[in-house]
Amino acid sequence: MTQPSYSRGRQDPPLLTQTLGQAFDACATRHADREALVVRHQGLRYSWRQLAEAVDTHARALMALGIETGERIGIWAPNCAEWCILQIASAKVGAVLVTINPAYRVSELDYVLRQSGCRWLVCADAFKTSDYHAMLIELIPSLATHAPGHWRSDTLPALRGVVSLAAQPPQGFVAWADLAGRAGEVQWPAYCARQAKLRCDQPVNIQYTSGTTGAPKGATLSHRNILNNGLMVGHSLGLTEHDRLVLPVPLYHCFGMVMGNLGCITHGSTLIYPSDAFDPELTLRCVAEERASVLYGVPTMFIALLDHPARAQLDLSTLRSGIMAGATCPIEVMRRVIDQLHMAEVQIAYGMTETSPVSLQTGADDELERRVTTVGRTQPHLETQLVDAHGAVVARNEIGELCTRGYSVMLGYWDNPQATAEAIDGEGWMHSGDLAVMDEEGYVRIVGRGKDMIIRGGENIYPRELEEFLHTHPAIAEAQVVGVPCERYGEQVVAWVRFRQGQALEADALRDWCKARIAHFKVPRHFRFVEQFPTTVTGKVQKFRMREISLKELESRAWCDPDRSGT
Ligand code: AMP
Repeated sequence: MTQPSYSRGRQDPPLLTQTLGQAFDACATRHADREALVVRHQGLRYSWRQLAEAVDTHARALMALGIETGERIGIWAPNCAEWCILQIASAKVGAVLVTINPAYRVSELDYVLRQSGCRWLVCADAFKTSDYHAMLIELIPSLATHAPGHWRSDTLPALRGVVSLAAQPPQGFVAWADLAGRAGEVQWPAYCARQAKLRCDQPVNIQYTSGTTGAPKGATLSHRNILNNGLMVGHSLGLTEHDRLVLPVPLYHCFGMVMGNLGCITHGSTLIYPSDAFDPELTLRCVAEERASVLYGVPTMFIALLDHPARAQLDLSTLRSGIMAGATCPIEVMRRVIDQLHMAEVQIAYGMTETSPVSLQTGADDELERRVTTVGRTQPHLETQLVDAHGAVVARNEIGELCTRGYSVMLGYWDNPQATAEAIDGEGWMHSGDLAVMDEEGYVRIVGRGKDMIIRGGENIYPRELEEFLHTHPAIAEAQVVGVPCERYGEQVVAWVRFRQGQALEADALRDWCKARIAHFKVPRHFRFVEQFPTTVTGKVQKFRMREISLKELESRAWCDPDRSGT
């Protein structure tokens, strides 16, 4: 047989055995007076010493709130300084941070708070169309009428309180600004004793993802998982304390909180948040004014940066490197990033939440062709293999499902042993649901997705979750969801809907109904109203046929242009 599609990463640098808090303290001591964190939209700048002070204060305040080792704290906010402080502070007291997409609506929030058993939630004030306080009061009406810590919710029995980042939150919420005042309730020895008991293989983070199938599951990641992934990603980029990294991606996902935050913490680099949510102009200005050397983004963000008129007027020549990841990285976009954003050393990373996330990455030494056409080779201390439908490893240059094994594989899905067993096989391989090819030298190309998932502008959408949601509409008898390619977002959502007898709705009305209830990125861009779906003889819906038909119909229109596409 020819060589199998199996590859093992290098063994250096060595894996860290520290907790996240220990690694952070070591960095803050080593680089105390250097700039650690810049949050442009809040006008905040912290040295490592100042960031460490803020972290320790808030960590003790969390203990004062009664948070015990292993308990869950949710964070539901767009990018901000408090997000970063909470990430480290919660890790230092042994809590598990549940990162919640800030675009979530009430039902999505309810699900993750309940499934993870969050004790406390930290929420933002309001953002875009989300009024976080109003949504929480809708979910927990008693919140507004009782003093903090003195209410109980029947639906969320584990929840003890909500901290708001607002300057003056409504009654019932604890103000973040008041937390610092509570730090004094916990003495240093008690705080140090708590930290001393923590171990690197304890859970530190839960991120909701749907893996290869539709129901959201909480990927549970340890200190060892994510700290080492931040280390390895940054090592591949050659990050040092002289680098200034601009991070426009959301913190609730591993791309932001691991590759960004922990990538900087493990290398002493300066972390810069250009805005609360992605904005191409603010990101470009931030790179120029902060003289950034490294920039991260999903492919659609880089496309928006390249196409923005402000780009040509700004001096972006300080950039040298960065990462494009999260979805297929088009070759032409990679070439333009190298030429027009001056990111000669840009790398592609591939991964998934369940593997902390990165398992493959291109390297600075790889030849240009490989850097723009592959997702690179296996990361240090990890193994990659491609298997067929029976689990046998395929030969090099043959298509197989990409599987990863090693330190980065999650502890499991929170409170869901069955789903964990389906995702991680008996030999410890995490199955990705992605189809890939490995060449003779171990470079991997992602060639498709075996799993039923749509990636729109870097956000994952699970057709089954969306179909189940659409079925809750009283007029809908059946709904099927597919993704179709789209220039602007990579992919877009198309929902085929069959109404109940005698019922009908306009697409706009249905879209408005969705908008009020689910995160905006999941709302179908196009609806197609049908009497029946294409099926096999056994009655199974043929999604590939739906995709073909949708695409053909949409191709003739100016589709994917939100202002011009009708249904
Ligand atoms: P998430 O769990 O949100 O990180 O999504 C993981 C999925 O994103 C993977 O299973 C892939 O389908 C996709 N993905 C991530 N990075 C890449 C990449 N560089 N190229 C192609 N697909 C990617």
